[in-house]
Amino acid sequence: MLVDLTDVLSEQHKTIETDTNLEMKEYRREKETFPIAEKQQVHIVVEYVQDAKIMITGDTSLMIKIPCDRCLEDVNTPFDLKFTKEVDLSDEVTEADEELDEKNFIEGHHLNVDQLICNEILVAWPMKVLCSEDCEGIVYEKDDALDPRMAAALDVFKNFQS
Ligand SMILES: [Zn+2]
Repeated sequence: MLVDLTDVLSEQHKTIETDTNLEMKEYRREKETFPIAEKQQVHIVVEYVQDAKIMITGDTSLMIKIPCDRCLEDVNTPFDLKFTKEVDLSDEVTEADEELDEKNFIEGHHLNVDQLICNEILVAWPMKVLCSEDCEGIVYEKDDALDPRMAAALDVFKNFQS
């Protein structure tokens, strides 16, 4: 969703405060795609700082399905995002800007909220995702795929024991 920044850039430098919806239904990272299970509106405040500088403050929370590192089951992973960014909208692009791609969420006089949130998701991405602390990994999947004859033999063995 695009937020028009004209008000804040006008001579009155009116603060913009808005709630906006995310358009994205999934998050793409490298070659992987992660479905967004739940999302809240994004609360955005844009204030004028000085010259061509503005301050963007925002928060939202969403839930992204990320596979467990061990068993690959999808895990609903919460993201509580809160961020503040000072952005220089003057045409001068500093080397730091280019390197960090810091302003990729600014499109002319618009703020691309989806792109901004994508950046924040990347920053907040967990180092490790586990369905549970004691997930035993894909051992269980191997059990499921056990040869039926072998499974039958194990059942006999279990019954014999009890
Ligand atoms: Zn797991």
